[in-house]
Amino acid sequence: MNQDNFSDLQIADIDARKEKLDDFNIEQIHFPGFIQSHGVLLVLEEPRLKIVQVSNNTESFLGIPPETLLNHSLSRFFPRTQIRNLKKIIARNEFETVNLVKLKLKKDGEYLFIDGVLHRNNDGVLIIELERSAYRDDLDFISFYHSLKSAAANIQKTSNLQEMYKFIVQEIRSLVKCDRVMVYKFNKNWDGEVVAEDKREDIEPFLGLHYPDADTQACRKFYAAHWLRVVVDVNAESAALLPVNYPEINLSNSVLRGLSQCHREYLQNMGVCSTLVMPLKRSGQLWGLISCHHYTPKQVSYELRQACEFLSQIISSELVAKEEAEDYDYKIKLKSIHAKLTEYMSIKKNFIDGLIADRPNLLDLANAQGAFIYWQGEFTTIGNVPQNPDLERLVNWLKNNIQETVFETNSLSCLYPESEEYKNIASGLLAISILPKNYICWFRPEFVQTVKWAGNPHNTVVEKVDSEGVVRLSPRGSFAVWKETVRFNSLVWKSCEIEAVKDLRSAIVNIALRQADEQAKLTQELERSNEDLEKFAYVASHDLQEPLNLVSSYVQLLEMRYRDRLDEDAKEFINFAVDGVTHMQTLIDDLLTYSRVGTQDKKFVKIEMEDIVNRACTNLQEKIQTNEVTIMRDRLPSVFGDRTQLIQVFQNLIGNAIKFRKEEKPLVQIRVEENEDHYLFSVRDNGIGIELQFSDRIFTIFQRLHSRDEYPGTGIGLALCKKIIERHEGTIWFDSELGKGSTFYFTIPR
Ligand code: ADP
Repeated sequence: MNQDNFSDLQIADIDARKEKLDDFNIEQIHFPGFIQSHGVLLVLEEPRLKIVQVSNNTESFLGIPPETLLNHSLSRFFPRTQIRNLKKIIARNEFETVNLVKLKLKKDGEYLFIDGVLHRNNDGVLIIELERSAYRDDLDFISFYHSLKSAAANIQKTSNLQEMYKFIVQEIRSLVKCDRVMVYKFNKNWDGEVVAEDKREDIEPFLGLHYPDADTQACRKFYAAHWLRVVVDVNAESAALLPVNYPEINLSNSVLRGLSQCHREYLQNMGVCSTLVMPLKRSGQLWGLISCHHYTPKQVSYELRQACEFLSQIISSELVAKEEAEDYDYKIKLKSIHAKLTEYMSIKKNFIDGLIADRPNLLDLANAQGAFIYWQGEFTTIGNVPQNPDLERLVNWLKNNIQETVFETNSLSCLYPESEEYKNIASGLLAISILPKNYICWFRPEFVQTVKWAGNPHNTVVEKVDSEGVVRLSPRGSFAVWKETVRFNSLVWKSCEIEAVKDLRSAIVNIALRQADEQAKLTQELERSNEDLEKFAYVASHDLQEPLNLVSSYVQLLEMRYRDRLDEDAKEFINFAVDGVTHMQTLIDDLLTYSRVGTQDKKFVKIEMEDIVNRACTNLQEKIQTNEVTIMRDRLPSVFGDRTQLIQVFQNLIGNAIKFRKEEKPLVQIRVEENEDHYLFSVRDNGIGIELQFSDRIFTIFQRLHSRDEYPGTGIGLALCKKIIERHEGTIWFDSELGKGSTFYFTIPR
């Protein structure tokens, strides 16, 4: 991936060194023990404001040596009115909002105008820092206030992020009057990129340069809690705090706080002399930095610092709104795709069809080139996706490694190296888990990019031997552009796309659960009503048999006993009654057989189909003879099945072939075909034929195509055949030509 090849050992070593350096830097940020020498720092003991610690540069700044100041009250050196103001601020204890006191002191016969900035450090110690005032009267301040107001308004007026960045750098540079202002944005790995820049024309641009995470690691913690950091002159000597044996003092809230050795070297290596940096925070989280560079020493007044703090807070509060406005049209489009997909999903029986069958589809929702749905162990794919075995392994990897319900990466191979093989399809992955272990995943192909780094990002720390011969860690010496070709990465998934798939997830969870629920209920109901029906049919046919026998016996008795006394009409009526009873008897028998098919859990045994057909023919003996039927048959194999039921099947099929005959003598042909996993049996006749449009109907119970006057029957025969064949895990169907004959086919597994 990189131009340099680092071994794991080297990388581990670099990491360890970076860590050491960070600890050191963090320590130096809070307790440097020295300050920048353009100002003076005094540590005061309350309530007398006794000076207990002081920077060693007071003589050059105030004209008073540190020894003279130490252990005396501040009131000894400043006029009473000024001390009174100062005490008022201390009494209010609101250092966050008001902490400036204007001071005036005579030095070498001239007045020295001083800004005194008061604050308490994290341990509650009172500190005052003195700097030269920038504004002697209020005139400058008014015009300054106006330019600040217009800067804030301009920034707020911008319509999108890019435009806002542009205004930020322009407005801040015109306020601070420095050589370069940059907006520096962190990505999710904390590497940063210069996304906007305004600069002196003659200096080289940094726009588009990337800076590694290590460059800002130490200072990021500081900016989480503070709004500004100023370095006035990176080359100036620092001023140590006296007395040196005084307990180390926490200076993290101090404006004058000295630079760590590493920070100083970093800026020196960059060739920068003075900096002012403000954090940009999005919803309270560090998002980026506004960084001002100057190539000669530059003092930034208290007022200007306040203004910059104020601006960075305004910009921070604008970030969310501007990011929301970003890609506005695209977001609207995604919303409408979401609405369509939700509609399709709820119309279709199965939510998966709703996601892939129409346009827009799953791919459109995340601007992806391929996607798959893994639902209840089955894959449904759309677009360009890896091979099925690859998908299976990827799903297993997701199951074992990803806990989040929504997961995205634009460099899948970093986490899952196997995916390198299909980088042209899936370098980027966006995945949602619908229910545990059920996923929808979107893919994006590799998009090769060149990243310009400010210096080699793999060598942020080097070892240096200092003047005393000690080996020290030091920031990299070169910031020359270092190009890196980034492979195995896709275009990043936009936050609005991630939001869109999150919304889809909620919709699917609702719809899929509802559909699964409905399906389960339906199946349950169906099973129950099937069971009820079978029970009913069984009980009813069983119980009806007895009274029917009674009716039949009495009608026959009536006919026998009173034969002589009955007239012809009465005899005919009795015949009708006997016919009815006979038909009802057949119906009940058939129904009973039908209802028993599923309830008989008799084990299948090996049976000779030859015997089965023989038996069926024997049962039909009378009809075969009466109708002068010719039966032609293949030699039939043996199968596993239920003997009685298979006899029933042949008996019904041959019976129908005879019953639905034409004028000509019936010819029935029984054939078998041997296939890889099943036998295909067929019973062909030369009868009246069936219209193919009734192909479904005739296998339904009680469905007949003829009246009983034309052809007798109950309409149960074929339904019974279907039930039996299905119980044998086979299928049954027919082919026919009206007027020419029909062929019934059924299969039995081998
Ligand atoms: P049934 O024979 O008692 O009427 P079936 O379920 O066996 O009931 O058949 C249903 C219907 O299918 C029959 O009424 C008939 O219309 C049609 N049918 C079945 N077999 C044939 C066949 N071999 N030739 C023509 N029609 C048939």
